[in-house]
Amino acid sequence: MKRYKIEPFENLVEAFNALPGIGKKSAIRLAYHIAMVDGFSGVKLAHAIEDGVNSIHKCLHCHNMSEDELCSICADTGRDRTQLCIVQSAKDILSVEESGQYNGVYYVISRLEDMDESHLLHQTEGVEEVIFAFPPSIATDTMILYIEEKLSGRDLLFTKIAQGVPTGVELENIDMMSLGRAMEARVRV
Ligand SMILES: [Zn+2]
Repeated sequence: MKRYKIEPFENLVEAFNALPGIGKKSAIRLAYHIAMVDGFSGVKLAHAIEDGVNSIHKCLHCHNMSEDELCSICADTGRDRTQLCIVQSAKDILSVEESGQYNGVYYVISRLEDMDESHLLHQTEGVEEVIFAFPPSIATDTMILYIEEKLSGRDLLFTKIAQGVPTGVELENIDMMSLGRAMEARVRV
């Protein structure tokens, strides 16, 4: 049977499909929308993607998303540098910030394999409390133990956000109120 392929359309579907959370059906829907319904939104999207890819980098201090060498949180002199909140993803910083319960600084550790110990040690200078804002799971408990061990030479108080944050749920999916409370009611680890 002859196949009628429109290659640019197939490419568009493939590109959408390669993104997290976008299955084949959604990819086709988005590609069709851009190709046939609203070309302008497609062009806008293309520009936003190019701009985002080119101008968003990792903050040198905390690995947060940033346009400059230092992110706006690290660059803010009003933040409390005695508190360091460790998160698993830079997008979790957005969630904690939105909860409005925290005025310290952050540090992103996605995977222990990628952790730069001396960089982390450098970033904990002057810090008094390290707060782990990880989604609760056995894997993150292991991460907490490991990081605590690496920082054991420092006189630090280790806390984690309170339970009540459901196990296995990502921070971005927790409502702000619960995350704010969990942040306030953190417990020692
Ligand atoms: Zn930063």
